[in-house]
Amino acid sequence: MSANPDGILRLPQVEQLLQKPIFAPYIRQLSRPLVTNAIRRTLADIRQQSSFRERGITIDALYSQLNDACEYLINQRHSRVINATGTVVHTNLGRSPIDPALWDSVAAVNTGYCNLEIKLSDGKRGQRKGILSQLLSSLTGAEDGLVVNNNAASVYLLLNELARGKEVIVSRGEQIQIGGGFRIPDILALSGARLVEVGTTNITTADDYINAITENTAMVLMVHCSNFVVRGFTESADIRDVARRLPKHVILAVDQGSGLSSEKFAAHETPSDSYIRAGADLVCFSGDKILGGPQAGIICGRRELIQKLEKNPLMRAFRPGRIIYSLLEELLVRKLNRAPEGMGIAETTVTHSEALERRANEVAGALGDKVRLVPSQMVVGGGTLPDEYFPSWSLELQIEKQAEQVLADLRAMSLPVIGVIRNDKVQLNMAAVLPHELSALIEQLRSYFGL
Ligand SMILES: *Cc1c(COP(=O)(O)O)cnc(C)c1O
Repeated sequence: MSANPDGILRLPQVEQLLQKPIFAPYIRQLSRPLVTNAIRRTLADIRQQSSFRERGITIDALYSQLNDACEYLINQRHSRVINATGTVVHTNLGRSPIDPALWDSVAAVNTGYCNLEIKLSDGKRGQRKGILSQLLSSLTGAEDGLVVNNNAASVYLLLNELARGKEVIVSRGEQIQIGGGFRIPDILALSGARLVEVGTTNITTADDYINAITENTAMVLMVHCSNFVVRGFTESADIRDVARRLPKHVILAVDQGSGLSSEKFAAHETPSDSYIRAGADLVCFSGDKILGGPQAGIICGRRELIQKLEKNPLMRAFRPGRIIYSLLEELLVRKLNRAPEGMGIAETTVTHSEALERRANEVAGALGDKVRLVPSQMVVGGGTLPDEYFPSWSLELQIEKQAEQVLADLRAMSLPVIGVIRNDKVQLNMAAVLPHELSALIEQLRSYFGL
């Protein structure tokens, strides 16, 4: 057992280390308690290492491990990344970015006080949703609307209020799971409603729904199959037909999912206003996916039902704060006016393919033979438009290195870049790279390639 000539056998005290200037930026970004804990954990780990017990540790190695521990935490802070995956609404990358103009326009209302629940006309208690219900009516053609924190909450709320202790009929083809842990049968059970399954995985007819109705039936729930398609011998019930034949005591609710409304790029998808016109009593959807606002759950439909939902005690738990209300309000005003900032990222990206091609050419031009410009595809993603592909352009990086390692290098950049692997090569799909990210992307890649 020989001591490492440079090694120290007694580790410094945590307090001593915290005084060192190299920890100051970490404390600024992570807070003192988190850095203290990271140092404490790292020192404890080092004490366990047999190499330390035998030979000690060099100061360099000590600081390198402490650095790694802090960097590991810094990487977990929410920070901006460049989405070069070709999935425009990417659940793991925050779904829909909010248009900077929308964000700026709600800064004042959110950084000061606001008339969230007071009527400026007479100073009396007002409604939190303000003109949102009218905006939602104009968007969907429904009588009224309400907003909750996310669409999972919409589904839970409408089941809990309108079908608790009763039966809800759902097609076997729509017993779906959306993202992590949101399963229709489980949500139904939690809400206190009883699931009645009808039809088969591929075929459900209007008769299937109608024949399953009893006096205990509260609702027929139709759920958009957001993230998969069933192809081949398939049939789903015509909602008009179901709506027409439903007895008065049964509510027809549709979980539309994406919030597609007036956007014109998704021809095969049913927008929320079509469901209302077809006779749905309620339709719910997310506020961000295709609608393009903040994540929220929106329920539109018959006023009498919306008012019931609003009186449910859960509404107190599910209602959003003013950040969401103000952003949605701003978005919808612009969307109804067909202003560009009201389009949402999905529509903007899919319908501006010349701009995308220009961006791809600009980046490719700046990187010479280090990249190859290849035609590719984008998807909207985020549990919308499954199986619909739109044309895109990708940069294939020309580099002799393991693709996984290149992806890791890209993630380690100061503005991290999230790429994809195609045919063992790293590609940067330009679809969802935002215009104001181009120069940073070019600069980082030039430096990566040593240009
Ligand atoms: C995305 C989605 C949900 C969940 O919406 P969140 O806003 O993520 O809670 C529910 N139902 C359908 C059909 C969806 O597509």
